[in-house]
Amino acid sequence: MTDAPGLSSAGADATLADRVAWISDQVSDAAHAAGRTSDEITLIAITKFHPVSLVRELHALGLRDFGENRHQDAREKAAELDDLDLRWHFVGQLQSKKARQVREYASVIHSIDRVALVDQLAEVTPPVDVFLQFNLTDDPARGGARPEDARALAESAAAASGLRLLGVMAVAPLGEDPRPAFARLRGIGEVVSSVVPSATAISAGMSHDFREAIAEGATHLRIGTAITGNRPPRD
Ligand SMILES: *Cc1c(COP(=O)(O)O)cnc(C)c1O
Repeated sequence: MTDAPGLSSAGADATLADRVAWISDQVSDAAHAAGRTSDEITLIAITKFHPVSLVRELHALGLRDFGENRHQDAREKAAELDDLDLRWHFVGQLQSKKARQVREYASVIHSIDRVALVDQLAEVTPPVDVFLQFNLTDDPARGGARPEDARALAESAAAASGLRLLGVMAVAPLGEDPRPAFARLRGIGEVVSSVVPSATAISAGMSHDFREAIAEGATHLRIGTAITGNRPPRD
């Protein structure tokens, strides 16, 4: 099994258990370096494109939080793994008309980026935990709301009884130092928590930038390849 590029410490022939142990160590080191502790950080294993057998192995290693970015795949995996106590996190771009279907299996939706999505979920019971996703790039094709719309989007989420707003989410832009990008996200999070004081969580940090995200206050890491190894090609 090949290791993710740039990650040498877990070793090229590391087992799944080795990689999980390595990530846990790295997360706790980064947390301590930032004056934080790892119990305030939720590690979400992103298992997209991987078979359900991998999720079962990770569950056996103690992981409970799993993330997927495509509704179809996520729904199938959640159904097949219904016998396990898992929390599913939906992290992909979401069509408005699919929002209520996602909520049927997902404990947390990380990609609420427009009022149309808030409207779809406004009255669901019980309420669903959500993050507001922001686009830290200048490319409008990337998922996420514009940072300048943070207050308005937070206000619309605050008014919806079907949503429990946890905080903000983003993916670091490619080809840019992630630390200042995550610092911007932290600032956006302050705008959001000025509207909903309990919404202080930050979903940020992937295999290659989780240390920078932790340094900027991330509470929910979305880690794929550093745990799972490289993703199989998609057919
Ligand atoms: C795939 C994905 C991740 C995990 O990425 P890795 O680089 O494999 O850690 C995190 N967040 C989102 C939104 C993703 O789509």
